[in-house]
Amino acid sequence: MADENTFIMLKPDCMKRGLVGEIITRIERKGYRIIDAKMMKLSAAFLYEHYAHLADQPFFPLILQHMLSGPVFGMIVRGENAVLGMRLLVGATKFEDAQPGSIRGDYALSTINNLIHCSHTVEIGEQEIKRFFSTATA
Ligand code: ADP
Repeated sequence: MADENTFIMLKPDCMKRGLVGEIITRIERKGYRIIDAKMMKLSAAFLYEHYAHLADQPFFPLILQHMLSGPVFGMIVRGENAVLGMRLLVGATKFEDAQPGSIRGDYALSTINNLIHCSHTVEIGEQEIKRFFSTATA
């Protein structure tokens, strides 16, 4: 199994609750490395692109409202099997499905306020890293 990069983003609820250190600790304890990171304030246009697959969902305005409510912390995380490994560490998208022991299972307050984004696949991770780390979003 080869090393992979994945894009991780700590969402505004994570920043406001002071859980950044806690979540980075979990990522590092798993053995993954943070190879780049930056704080960003995202625009609505940028979020429409990042969440294009959800733009026609009734809850999309709630995503926008949440993601525009404060800064986010983006990271490139690297390690063996890191894309799937981070999805397991993060836990299920839906609040009621996130297992105890996962980041969302332990800390999420709702499906919207679920603290953290992680890439779905290696290919999507590459696209997200390019989007977040090669364009001016701060
Ligand atoms: P993930 O963040 O697990 O990769 P998605 O890409 O499907 O999942 O969704 C992006 C974000 O949109 C989720 O993290 C969550 O904050 C929000 N979301 C997804 N589905 C719902 C839903 N049914 N109700 C409310 N918010 C949702």
